[in-house]
Amino acid sequence: MELSARVGRIEPSRTAHFANLVAKMQAAGENVISLAIGEPHGPVAPEVLAATGAALLDGQTRYSAIPGLEPLRAALVAPLRHHRTENVIITNGSKQALFSIFQVICNPGDEVVIPVPCWVSFPEQVKLAGGNPILVPTVNHQLDPAALENAIGPRTRAILINSPNNPTGAVYPDEDLQQIAALVRQRGLYLVSDEAYAAFVYDNQPYTSLTGFAELTDRLIVTGSFSKSFNMTGFRVGYAIGPVSVIKALTDLQSHLAGNVCTFAQYGALAALQGRQGPDRQRLATFQKKRDAAYQMASELFACVKPAGAFYLFPDISGRLKRGQSATDFAIRLLNEAKVAVMPGEAFGVENHLRIAFAVSDQDLMTGFERLREIL
Ligand code: GLU
Repeated sequence: MELSARVGRIEPSRTAHFANLVAKMQAAGENVISLAIGEPHGPVAPEVLAATGAALLDGQTRYSAIPGLEPLRAALVAPLRHHRTENVIITNGSKQALFSIFQVICNPGDEVVIPVPCWVSFPEQVKLAGGNPILVPTVNHQLDPAALENAIGPRTRAILINSPNNPTGAVYPDEDLQQIAALVRQRGLYLVSDEAYAAFVYDNQPYTSLTGFAELTDRLIVTGSFSKSFNMTGFRVGYAIGPVSVIKALTDLQSHLAGNVCTFAQYGALAALQGRQGPDRQRLATFQKKRDAAYQMASELFACVKPAGAFYLFPDISGRLKRGQSATDFAIRLLNEAKVAVMPGEAFGVENHLRIAFAVSDQDLMTGFERLREIL
């Protein structure tokens, strides 16, 4: 039996594929170090576990409101000046938020402009909404506002940005964001801002969340996640913040798609927000140390830009590739020979690069790079 043309247009998630491959090798007794998947190392905070457990024991095991628990939605917008509870929906990770956003803003044939390299799921999610991703190269991992403007056509619905960026770790400066904001206003577009890594900006650099841009609120949709900020990847709690009309459409879609996000997991997420007194400086310092160590070790092997945020390095490996060898071939060689998993750049829309996730234990980071050094 044939499957739909829609699903025939997409590739499976390569990050998920690599994670499975590594898990299989590890289950077979192989000592593989994974620097492939972007999943922060470390435990979930005790107050989050306690609140989740208490919610379970308290009978919070039934359906909850489609757009999410009211107190959780309220807590998410409490620090924001231009948004209220009606502007938020809780989703199964920000992955589902992004998937649903393209479903509600794209008609078949509409275009979404995406700077590349980009996260593996963006283009496929746009295609699943019947849209066409228009990939625009970045310059030294930074936005090229003129190129983005040139990519806008009559079918463009949105520009999608992601800062701090997965896979490059780039953080976009305020001036560039202002330019993009002006552009989407002039051209009547949505701006989708994936801010899953907002908690990871290093060297005391300022970080601009687009939620602060008052003039954008009628066309801005921001996504965020508890996965990276609170080590809660398996809880699957994310969210979208946007205009009431978009949140209402996302809620209608969610009522047929997933119903609600796991009720007791949402109580855990609420405890995570309530437990946080301002930014978590200690955690940030730990990640910055990992960033510094990873950058130093990677720079000895490859041409590398120091990431200002997130927890990825994205080195250019052209100098390491034999004629005809792709980054995917190279990553497979590293997996088989060094037993170190990294992601090939092709997963993120560019060739001749690797993505190395450094959010692992210090021990795994050291051993991983030792193995790479030996092989290379
Ligand atoms: N976002 C993470 C990554 O890029 C997790 C895996 C995924 O959902 O793609 O590795």
